[in-house]
Amino acid sequence: MVKENLQIVEQKIEEACKRANRDRSEVTLIAVSKTKPVSMMREVMETGIIDFGENKVQELTRKYEELDTPLNWHLIGHLQRNKAKYIVDKVSLIHSVDSLRLAEQIDEEAKKHNVVVNILIEVNIAGEESKFGVREEELLPLLMEISKLSNVKVQGLMTIAPFVENPEENRVHFKNMHKLMIDIKSKNIDNINMNILSMGMTGDYEVAIEEGATMVRVGTGIFGERNYNI
Ligand SMILES: *Cc1c(COP(=O)(O)O)cnc(C)c1O
Repeated sequence: MVKENLQIVEQKIEEACKRANRDRSEVTLIAVSKTKPVSMMREVMETGIIDFGENKVQELTRKYEELDTPLNWHLIGHLQRNKAKYIVDKVSLIHSVDSLRLAEQIDEEAKKHNVVVNILIEVNIAGEESKFGVREEELLPLLMEISKLSNVKVQGLMTIAPFVENPEENRVHFKNMHKLMIDIKSKNIDNINMNILSMGMTGDYEVAIEEGATMVRVGTGIFGERNYNI
């Protein structure tokens, strides 16, 4: 099942790239494996995928130990400051940084491990009350502060778009994220890269790609529905 699902997702990614005149190599598919067993992750790995997304520190570290092959681990869920120490030496990218305090904590732990941690800033682009992430107007001041930290490196932006029935409703938000990224990039801030735009999930990744996503985070579309009760 996982392999057939992957084929469908891959085809949709290719078609979306074509529609947007983009090269397939510009988009990284992250397989969001939260709640799913490592046996299913191995099936995904057999197709050559090495990028996996988890939203809980404990689950990520458990699977990291269990799958002792080099993979790109992405922390995509909200990170509590006191848990940064468990993952700074394991993850390729933390997608969900939305405060200076969290960035400072990651920086401090990164120094202890003698690593530089790649991060994205999570933006609450639709201004939803319930969402993590900084508001658009808070982004630049935050970046100016984070740019002073030596052991975290901002590589771009991430957003979780609103839950909608019709993915077209999120197009405007993806467009705004892309604009924001271009705008920040043009400011050439020291120690800040703007090369990654992480947006698009199972329901809307094709629209996100059409609007410039460089990473899409797909869970259900690959692994099937999640059951949080098990
Ligand atoms: C769970 C999750 C996803 C994947 O969601 P699907 O709708 O299953 O594709 C993507 N991004 C984040 C931040 C998530 O928590």
